[in-house]
Amino acid sequence: MIVAHTIEQLKGALAEAKANTPNAQIGFVPTMGFLHEGHASLLAQSVQHNDISVLSIFVNPIQFGPTEDLDRYPRDEERDLALAKQHGVDIVFLPTVDVMYPQPTKTKIVVTELTGILCGASRPGHFDGVTTVVAKLFHLIQPTHAYFGMKDAQQVAVITQMVQDLNMDVEIVPCPLVRESDGLALSSRNVYLSEEQRTQALKLSEALKLTEDWLNDSTILTAGQLKDRIAHHIQSAPLADIDYVELVAFPSMLPVKDTHSLQEREEQWLIALAVRFGSTRLIDNKLLAVTKGE
Ligand code: AMP
Repeated sequence: MIVAHTIEQLKGALAEAKANTPNAQIGFVPTMGFLHEGHASLLAQSVQHNDISVLSIFVNPIQFGPTEDLDRYPRDEERDLALAKQHGVDIVFLPTVDVMYPQPTKTKIVVTELTGILCGASRPGHFDGVTTVVAKLFHLIQPTHAYFGMKDAQQVAVITQMVQDLNMDVEIVPCPLVRESDGLALSSRNVYLSEEQRTQALKLSEALKLTEDWLNDSTILTAGQLKDRIAHHIQSAPLADIDYVELVAFPSMLPVKDTHSLQEREEQWLIALAVRFGSTRLIDNKLLAVTKGE
């Protein structure tokens, strides 16, 4: 496994790997590090389906708002590199901020519409930072496949839109959301939670699981009623501070009207949650399949 810190090192490592494997399929997994089993599941897919797998670890400052957790974002380079090696990654790109942004970027990639709601509304500029850094990484690495987790479902929709709109020659592969055995969605930010916050954070995955029952409950007939039921369940945790509980069509990210019947889903729906526990903001989601009015 080669660890590249500079763009020259990355290009050198890629050139050598490609010379050894003509027409190589290149899998790419972009991350911010502090890797867990969610990241590992993306790496496993990349390694299984490609000749060369590249992992990037970069805490991208331009996707953080001024009051967000950029400075305290958790890091553990040594453990990340061990996990990457264990999963058969070929190249790890681990740049500094100066390598990625030798000067403040004057160019940004902006995906419109899909970014106007959910995390795009709560975190202004966040997705511009994400699409800009992912576009830069795609240019540098030129992957044939790139792997993104459905933990960040809106990110999957936004990146897929960018690739389509800009004719980028890469296949975006969405990967399932990975949870702890008790249901908590794995996140690097879970380390911020106190024991009490972590216990109460289980209300998110619990509420999402309970929607399976609530969809068959004759008192919950509309999208608005389902959202209220989910919010009510989460609010039973005293430390939970709801940022949003939303229902949107996926991947268009168009809001579902509160009056929309739950039984008539002509598109896949995404139940998306963002909830604060103290200064830690957690997200979780679940997809609801199309019913076609059945
Ligand atoms: P991050 O390091 O949080 O920016 O995440 C890097 C990639 O890992 C993104 O595509 C995330 O969606 C994905 N990821 C993070 N947590 C999970 C999870 N629990 N399950 C699946 N994928 C995840």
